[in-house]
Amino acid sequence: MNLAQHISETELSAKILRHAVPRMSELNIPVTPDNYAVWYEYFRGVNLDLKRAIDGLLSNQVSFTRDINASLHNRFIQEQSPEVIQTVQVETQLLINSLMSKLSMMTAGTAKFGQSLSDFCNDISLSPDQKTLDGLIDALAQEVSSVVLSNQQMEQSLSMMSQEIVGLKSEMQNLNLVAMTDQLTSLYNRRAFDEELLSHIQYFKQHNTHSSLLIIDIDNFKQFNDLHGHLVGDKVLAYIALALKQGVRGEDFVARYGGEEFVVLLPDTDHAGAMVVAELLRSRIAERRLSIGKDNKLSLGAITVSVGVASLRRGDDRDSYFIRADESLYRAKSAGRNCVKG
Ligand code: GH3
Ligand code: MG
Ligand code: MG
Repeated sequence: MNLAQHISETELSAKILRHAVPRMSELNIPVTPDNYAVWYEYFRGVNLDLKRAIDGLLSNQVSFTRDINASLHNRFIQEQSPEVIQTVQVETQLLINSLMSKLSMMTAGTAKFGQSLSDFCNDISLSPDQKTLDGLIDALAQEVSSVVLSNQQMEQSLSMMSQEIVGLKSEMQNLNLVAMTDQLTSLYNRRAFDEELLSHIQYFKQHNTHSSLLIIDIDNFKQFNDLHGHLVGDKVLAYIALALKQGVRGEDFVARYGGEEFVVLLPDTDHAGAMVVAELLRSRIAERRLSIGKDNKLSLGAITVSVGVASLRRGDDRDSYFIRADESLYRAKSAGRNCVKG
């Protein structure tokens, strides 16, 4: 983004801020980051569905309850334009910064100070004697210091606001991370994978590079759970997650797709390369003998996985790519499990 664009975007945000905040307070809507993101989008006017929904509520005089505000946020921001959350935070921060720098320049510019100054000029022309002059200068000095003090207080409260906004921003980033993480394994979850897969495919189309996808499913895991209990099963899921993460490169994307299924996206990897990675992951997992309990006395035997491999083809979309990997997985299961097909 160039400077001119940046300035005009900041001006746009300032304009939106001036419209959105009073309208929100008119409608008794608390100015929280979530609600503000909704109204920021409303006044930006680009999201027509959101605009229609809110205009509908307004014309039916529906009151904006907590539930309605939350559902607007979920439907139109969280699901349709999550990037707005980030934009609102950044733009608000920019606004506050520019406000603060303006304020620090206007120490001598308040209306009260201007009035004192013109009173001073009047008095000086009326009463030129030294004693009155001294008194006037003292009064003026006091005026100056009180103006400086009140501006300092204002600056302080603005800087606190700015800190709060920075805090809010990092809180939002944390929330975002939590929303993208699977609690049991600490891997990315399905939602994060869906997003990553989309940008992966876009990148592939733009740069014409290789991309491969593995779907990894634990074999006979239902039986394992029945035999050893769900808690032990959970530990195995965490172990498999770690084995996968440690078995691939840093730029590869590992996620828990759900239940006992995992997915790995391999950028810049062709089909033959992906088959090698998959076979390595499979064999390492199969070779390990697991045990738990005091001194690891209770043997759990071996855990095996089946892996389906697909490589991205021109003309693929998210579904066709995923389905091909899933069909490979199905073939691996049919071939007796503990193997790789692609
Ligand atoms: P297959 O080799 O055909 O994949 O057989 P499977 O038993 O692994 O497959 P199935 O889909 O029949 O069962 C999956 C099992 O995975 C069911 C459930 O007990 C287990 N599972 C799914 N999610 C969890 C979880 O979060 N924790 C535990 N402990 N088990 C889970
Ligand atoms: Mg499964
Ligand atoms: Mg399974």
